[in-house]
Amino acid sequence: MKNILVVSAHPDDLELSCGGTIAKFVAEGARVTNLIMVGGVPHVKYLDSAAAKIGYEPVIYSLTDDRFQVNKDTIRSVDMIVSEISPDLIITHSDEDWHQDHRACNEMVSIIRRNQPVDVWLMSSYPYDLKYKSFNANLYVDISEYTETKYAAISEYLNVGHWVEPVASHDNWRGSFIDTVAAEVFSIDHMVIK
Ligand SMILES: [Zn+2]
Repeated sequence: MKNILVVSAHPDDLELSCGGTIAKFVAEGARVTNLIMVGGVPHVKYLDSAAAKIGYEPVIYSLTDDRFQVNKDTIRSVDMIVSEISPDLIITHSDEDWHQDHRACNEMVSIIRRNQPVDVWLMSSYPYDLKYKSFNANLYVDISEYTETKYAAISEYLNVGHWVEPVASHDNWRGSFIDTVAAEVFSIDHMVIK
């Protein structure tokens, strides 16, 4: 059984970026945890119902902060959380994301993986990915059977529910690259063969 940890900045990042992939992995028996670094945002109130639709377990790092910084305290705490979960795969944001909290997640995962023999995939975070310049999409996941679950989970977030239509177009466009209805893409950052 796969043990997956998604390290993301905000509630709604998982759903928008890789909700179909996570729904697929959960259906195949994976355990998925979403460590959310910034919980001090109004849309945190939609998190539990969105997580229930997809079937992952949310863990909020801070419920009070609306920003986070990579410093020795954050690194120490997240290191402990990751060691406890002991994932086979960490999915996090891209280093060229335009949102500073997303970039900080990438930096933190880059630091903590020094002690973790773990695969790392970078996700393509809508809508910031529309401005990526060098994202190397080298991993496609067919999510055709999981689009309903993904869009239902996004719809739980009243702040981004109106994005379902553009996200669906995006998924369909990516699906055309692998001759299917809908896909999500990732960039493999780091792979470990044990
Ligand atoms: Zn975000």
